[in-house]
Amino acid sequence: MLTIGSHLSSAKGFESMGIDALKIGANTFQFFTRNPQGGRAKDIDISDVEKFSELSKMHGFQKFVAHAPYTLNPCSDNPQTREFALMVFSDDLKRMEFVPHNYYNFHPGSHVGQGIDAGIEMIAELLNLVLTKEQTTTVLLETMSGKGSEIGSKFEELRAIIDRTDLNEKLGVCLDTCHVYSAGYDIVRNFDGVLEEFDCTIGLNRLKAIHLNDSKTEFASHKDRHEQIGKGSIGFEAIVRLVNHKSLKHLPFILETPNDLAGWADEITLLRQNFNT
Ligand code: FE
Ligand code: FE
Ligand code: ZN
Repeated sequence: MLTIGSHLSSAKGFESMGIDALKIGANTFQFFTRNPQGGRAKDIDISDVEKFSELSKMHGFQKFVAHAPYTLNPCSDNPQTREFALMVFSDDLKRMEFVPHNYYNFHPGSHVGQGIDAGIEMIAELLNLVLTKEQTTTVLLETMSGKGSEIGSKFEELRAIIDRTDLNEKLGVCLDTCHVYSAGYDIVRNFDGVLEEFDCTIGLNRLKAIHLNDSKTEFASHKDRHEQIGKGSIGFEAIVRLVNHKSLKHLPFILETPNDLAGWADEITLLRQNFNT
């Protein structure tokens, strides 16, 4: 069974996301922990969480992915921005424990001219402050396209962050197909080679989730423009090969394609039809 879902609105809480997921044939989903620009998070509603857990059990939902806001930048040159990142990250991780054993995904950060090594140090510094032995959440570093001064467009950079994090058994990686293709990993013509490189550099055991997106821009563009499945430069054939790959087929696939619920329902149906076993 393919584990697939899309990025949903969290405005109405967990139960509402569960209902949306069912509507589109999903058995996982993603959402922003607070509005993507940052801001205050809504208080956790225990009865909402309970209703969701029931729904989740009844329909066999797999782990979901909570996504940190885009404004979270652990390696900003502005101390206030770094302080905000620390506050949001630790608050989100506390709230995640109300729905234990899921994933928390974040963009490693942009070093804004301070250099990749300095950025990596600051990202690890934040992780060393927020991760706890007790947490049940696995934190995912997202692979990035490398636009601007983004860190995480090379597997080596993610490896370096992991190596500098004490509790790195709490860390995994989320591979975004649009981002890696834009970053210059050729998942269309040499997917096995890319996976082999991932395995050698980071280890496939760290790969926990896939952001499944086509790309509006060409290979190695270093841009970040998602496209609907089959309508971009990656193309349907490569995407179907990817979801069926023996090293990936057990993972949760999250669509972040430009769509409404009906559009995601169509993509999920299509991908399920093209999933072997
Ligand atoms: Fe993301
Ligand atoms: Fe993504
Ligand atoms: Zn993106």
